[in-house]
Amino acid sequence: MSNPVRTLPDRRSAARLAARIAAGESRLGRARRVGRMLRALAVAYPDARCELDFTNPLELAVATILSAQCTDKRVNEVTPALFTRYPAAVDYAEADRAELEELIRPTGFFRNKATALIGLGQAVVERHGGRLPNTLDELVKLPGIGRKTANVILGNAFGIPGITVDTHFGRLVRRWGWTTLDDPVKVEHAVGALVPKRDWTMVSHHVIYHGRRVCHARKPACGVCTIAVDCPAFGTGPTDPAQAAVLVKGPETAHLLALAGFGTPDGDGAMSTAVDEGP
Ligand code: SF4
Repeated sequence: MSNPVRTLPDRRSAARLAARIAAGESRLGRARRVGRMLRALAVAYPDARCELDFTNPLELAVATILSAQCTDKRVNEVTPALFTRYPAAVDYAEADRAELEELIRPTGFFRNKATALIGLGQAVVERHGGRLPNTLDELVKLPGIGRKTANVILGNAFGIPGITVDTHFGRLVRRWGWTTLDDPVKVEHAVGALVPKRDWTMVSHHVIYHGRRVCHARKPACGVCTIAVDCPAFGTGPTDPAQAAVLVKGPETAHLLALAGFGTPDGDGAMSTAVDEGP
């Protein structure tokens, strides 16, 4: 994939883009813009994946339930011992509550989560013979599993494309002008209509990765953002690359700053970002 260098937009061009989107961006224009952003995100995060550790669908369901109000890193610290102690749905169904609560205590809300895990184990044993089902309709009927969790499981454990809309995903795609809708199911359908189905799972990862590393809720790192040129919210955070660079988080920071050309101003002194050329 080519990575031609682009100059960061100025606030005026971002405002023009925002006005164009507010006035009603054409379907083709939006599809092209979203496509450019997604190709740039694929370059930024070539190793994007589900950040929860698991080896089978049940483990992913358990890890996703534990990830509510908790970081993936903390969940990954807890699950090795948990998965060893409870390898199958029946083990959760028959779990000693006090012991289970103690194991998952570091993830917070451990009493509610223990209730969900025991209920999940019982339901999977009673309704599905101990195997986690692989359809949205069946998954969302299980204790502790909503539509978001079901899509995580479908996309990452069963290879069935799914868009995972949580509050962060919704915040980002509204900020980027992909949709104005608030309802998570409507957001899921709106984004799904912009992106080929085969890419749905990876789109979820790329959006979430960018939100965690660069496009933070309060102070996004606009000055080193590789999708800035197509973002109507450019300027929400610092546009000065040096101020923006310190806001970038995560293991890909050096790679992201290199893509943004941080420290290598081009000839006319403007900082450049390396993003994929649009169609
Ligand atoms: S960091 Fe700034 S420019 Fe980049 S996507 Fe977020 S708001 Fe837009």
